[in-house]
Amino acid sequence: VIFIENLDHYFGKAQLRKQVLFNVNLKINAGEIIIMTGPSGSGKTTLLTLVGGLRSTQSGSLQVLGRELCGASAKQLTQARRNNGYIFQAHNLHGSLTAIQNVRMGLELQPKISPQEMLTRSQQMLEAVGLGNRLNYYPDNLSGGQKQRVAIARALVSQPKIVLADEPTAALDKQSGRDVVELMQKLAKEQGCTILLVTHDNRILDIADRIVYMEDGHLVRDGVGAMAVE
Ligand code: ATP
Repeated sequence: VIFIENLDHYFGKAQLRKQVLFNVNLKINAGEIIIMTGPSGSGKTTLLTLVGGLRSTQSGSLQVLGRELCGASAKQLTQARRNNGYIFQAHNLHGSLTAIQNVRMGLELQPKISPQEMLTRSQQMLEAVGLGNRLNYYPDNLSGGQKQRVAIARALVSQPKIVLADEPTAALDKQSGRDVVELMQKLAKEQGCTILLVTHDNRILDIADRIVYMEDGHLVRDGVGAMAVE
């Protein structure tokens, strides 16, 4: 579902132009869970945002679900984003919305879903992440792990083909972090979606089907499961 070939990326213009990705090649199959790891500043988040259509790029080829995103227009990128779910380190929930209202935001870009169906699906998704009894809680009244589970529900409620997660366990203690990624893994397998997850957290590497390692803007290693990491 994701084919990346000879991808370069630059930030800034003219003399300030800085190359942050160098000739990246990566192929990701449908249903795979890929973890991307490597030192700070190595380009992991940049690559994730490019795959997610969250920023534009020009050099090389980046095909996501059959669309070429290299050189794509803003409108094409917006279209591409509809197929994705996003989970970030800071869960980015809206503090003034309840859990179910936050999850419902995950359906806002989907055309043709009635308000009633949005609510039903949001409720089912919160039940699936074990928060059926917290539908009307505000984020302030939920624990870190619970907030991240709401964020997972929001990312998955639209049944995305691809889930992009950036450091989803960073703000969590060991057990909650583990619970959160196992939940992502379970739901993604059930829905048949592909996960690309960026992390520094060595404790969760074993959930991956494949681990890719970035260093200084280069993808330096690509291997199967935990075997790829010393
Ligand atoms: P971390 O693990 O710390 O999040 P990372 O591997 O995700 O790091 P990126 O955030 O992708 O790395 O950053 C790669 C490089 O691109 C860094 O040198 C960073 O300073 C630079 N960079 C990232 N975003 C921008 C931006 N918006 N403008 C200019 N440079 C940027």
